[in-house]
Amino acid sequence: MSKLFKRTKILATIGPATFSKEKIEDLIMAGVNGCRLNFSHGDYVERDQQIQWIREAAEKKGRSVAILQDLQGPKIRLGDLRDNHYDVKKGDHFILDHAVEEHKGDNVLPVQYNLADKVKVDEPISLFDGKVKTHVVRVLSKTAIEVEAENDGFLMSHKGLNLPDTDFGGDIITEKDMADIEFGASRDFDFVALSFVQSASDIEKLRQILLSHGSTAQIIAKIETKKAIETDEAMEAIVEASDGIMVARGDMAVEAGAEVVPIVQRKLIAMCREHSKICIVATQMMGSMVDNPEPTRAEVSDVANAVIQGADAVMLSDETANGKYPLETVKAMKKVILYTQNHSHVSPINHEVTGDFKNYDAISNAVTALSEKIDADIIICQTATGATAAAISAQRPKLPIITVTSNARVAGQLALTYANSAFVRPYTETYGLDLAQELKEQGYLQVEEGKKDLLAVIISGHKDEMGGTDTIQLVHV
Ligand code: PEP
Repeated sequence: MSKLFKRTKILATIGPATFSKEKIEDLIMAGVNGCRLNFSHGDYVERDQQIQWIREAAEKKGRSVAILQDLQGPKIRLGDLRDNHYDVKKGDHFILDHAVEEHKGDNVLPVQYNLADKVKVDEPISLFDGKVKTHVVRVLSKTAIEVEAENDGFLMSHKGLNLPDTDFGGDIITEKDMADIEFGASRDFDFVALSFVQSASDIEKLRQILLSHGSTAQIIAKIETKKAIETDEAMEAIVEASDGIMVARGDMAVEAGAEVVPIVQRKLIAMCREHSKICIVATQMMGSMVDNPEPTRAEVSDVANAVIQGADAVMLSDETANGKYPLETVKAMKKVILYTQNHSHVSPINHEVTGDFKNYDAISNAVTALSEKIDADIIICQTATGATAAAISAQRPKLPIITVTSNARVAGQLALTYANSAFVRPYTETYGLDLAQELKEQGYLQVEEGKKDLLAVIISGHKDEMGGTDTIQLVHV
């Protein structure tokens, strides 16, 4: 069973290429565990349609599928350019003006964010994913700045700007994000991802805003700014403040240089495991499949490396949002994940056992070692808050974890957690063999061909509350 069970999860971005009930259902049936809705694009009517299709497909599959709302944050974009094109020559000066709505064909370009009170002279601004590099020459008015181009190139409408050295002073949640958060809270998303996080305080601010809207969505910090990765301490503080992180390699490469990405990725995965937080590796994992039916060798290696390093999830962006081969990409990714997990080993970690709920860490260390030593087939975890299940996942066990919880929110959030499949089931006083037998009868446990039963390690609590885990049992079922 465990050889066909994908332990590293797939998060797929839904977009024009996957905008139908059938296409979303196909992705989920093919192995997608979570869907990312990118709030940089699209409107609320489209979103509601996508949410409905995702939830229906999850129901059909009988598995939780996470929905992640990706907030645009201060992803600054150009406005509409005349003829969707503006040529730039090295040494050209042009103006970025927030007050201008329409580009008249001159050198004054509309920009969707007021940079005038944020930037300083000489600070770099790169546009269009780093294709056009500029620096600030002067601040012209309360809404306009002048920049000088450092290379030849061209710009198109709505292309992004990166300002790696600009301090946004903790002001990264925009008016658009606030409206999107309100929408998201009413749709009960499992995760909210925040773009361009600079420090842990950005996460704390978002947490307060979510709570004020009654949302208990988990927060994923997108790690992509120079400030966020300046020191290991800065990174770790963000990991601790968040519920998970996304290694947002696209903007990180533009902001800090592509060469930093592999090392930052490894460090972030390790830190997330240490703190039992979700780690998602994102961007260009199978980028060539936007146009081609097969991944490149380098892309296969990239996905495999993320699996070997122990990422919880790997993400698809343009491949499933705008590509020609969304379903083929998911299938190719799943194949790489399965082969790699079955021919490699992610070392367990020895969680430090501290804090108010020491039993999570102590039990997760013990259960993983025990289940592998006795060659068990499955770990069954009965959890109220999901904390024990997440701590076991952080150990990266080789066998599947089936989590049963009375809380649908917990099940949705565990959908992106390594090796975890969570099911909602009302809290009952069924433990041990009875619980395992019930799960088997309901089709959640399958005995491998040639075996007469399976050996399950069951972790449960006799109280449906935080810190209630108190029992480990071994049963043949
Ligand atoms: C990234 O930059 O890698 C990323 C995931 O963010 P976005 O797709 O929102 O630009």
